[in-house]
Amino acid sequence: MAMTGVQIFKLLPKTNCKKCGHPTCLAFAMKLAARQAKIDDCPDVSDEAKAQLGEASAPPIRGITLGSGDKAVKVGEETEMFRHDKKFVNPCAIAVEIKDNATDAEAKIQDVVTSEIDRVGQKLRVGAILISNASGDAGQLDAMAKLVAEKAPDTAVIISTGNADAAKTALAHFKGKAPMLHGADSGNLEAMAAVAKEAGASLSIRGNGPEELSGLTEKVKAAGVEDIVLDPGSTKARDILEHNTMIRRSALKKSFKPLGYPVITFAQRDNALLETLVASVGICKYSSIVVVSSAEKWKNLVLFTLRQNIYTDPQVPMQVKQDIYRISDPGKSAPLLITTNFSLTYFIVSGEVENSKVPTKLAVMDCEGLSVLTAWAAGKFTASKIAAFIQESGIGDDMETKELIIPGYVAILSGALEDKLEGWKITVGPREANALPAFLKSR
Ligand code: SF4
Repeated sequence: MAMTGVQIFKLLPKTNCKKCGHPTCLAFAMKLAARQAKIDDCPDVSDEAKAQLGEASAPPIRGITLGSGDKAVKVGEETEMFRHDKKFVNPCAIAVEIKDNATDAEAKIQDVVTSEIDRVGQKLRVGAILISNASGDAGQLDAMAKLVAEKAPDTAVIISTGNADAAKTALAHFKGKAPMLHGADSGNLEAMAAVAKEAGASLSIRGNGPEELSGLTEKVKAAGVEDIVLDPGSTKARDILEHNTMIRRSALKKSFKPLGYPVITFAQRDNALLETLVASVGICKYSSIVVVSSAEKWKNLVLFTLRQNIYTDPQVPMQVKQDIYRISDPGKSAPLLITTNFSLTYFIVSGEVENSKVPTKLAVMDCEGLSVLTAWAAGKFTASKIAAFIQESGIGDDMETKELIIPGYVAILSGALEDKLEGWKITVGPREANALPAFLKSR
């Protein structure tokens, strides 16, 4: 049962020393109760209190790491039902299934390894390979695990089989790499838990809905495996939505520990479009891992973009650093554009400038991550502030002709800017970024 802020407060040192970054112990206790702080942030709390508070401050959904190194994937640790209340924490991992009898396995592995794209400054990729024992043969599963370990050594791996002996052999290829074992159920639970424990793997349990799962997780925990992933057996979109919502609500609203684990969803379909739609349901509604059948570029782009939007903090605009960005090696005669530091604006504008192949300087002004019109309306992209930024940057010394091109949406600023930026010519550029290549080439 979760503790209240006052109950937690009674266990803290009550010195109000502020070392935790909060003004008082009570304020820190309230943050702990809301699961917005960690007990470790207070250096003076006693071990006894820590033990009591550990439960209260632990996230209601356990965090689990798949894989190791730079490409390790963390899932779980969610605290919210709705993404607009506060951000979702660890983005849902997309895993591609490779059957152990697949004839195109090498190509599929390669698709996963090369799946990374850069979108608005973030690296997005397929997070894991799920090797399924479709053949039913332990030797084939072992051979495919060996191939994946060789060809994709940095990618997180999930071994899916109901055969504990076959799982043990396959997992041996991923020692020290935090693999996951999927396929435990009420019939093989003890054997699978023993294999997962020995291999240092997390264990995914399949049940017939949340109710059955809640009984199984307790047994797995008793067998010594803490890192558990839930598979409620849902395949239809309706069931995925229903089961995932029940699990998330039970963990968050009822503090029901047996369901406080990440969820894996199997979205594979013969029809790629339908598969993408089902995977989207999982991404939007509480799946921590979504398994698809292939890593096609169009499908990745859809799922990565959706996931990025769902897992972006709605209270913190994505922004880039204020600076003068030089695109295509501009010289003194290159034009100077200005825009705001909202990530999406920056990447769209810089992308269009790169496409134009016209060497250009791009002044990106800190407007707290707001887009051009919003920043202007909020008084953060005004003539005075733009003039101060341009003057302080010293960019004028690096220009043959002092000319600043402003976004068409803020054409209204041109007169005031000419008054404030003495010696500068102000030119109004296009409203939309996609008109920039033609604009730059025509100059
Ligand atoms: Fe209180 Fe600990 Fe925070 Fe100090 S660091 S104010 S003792 S909670």
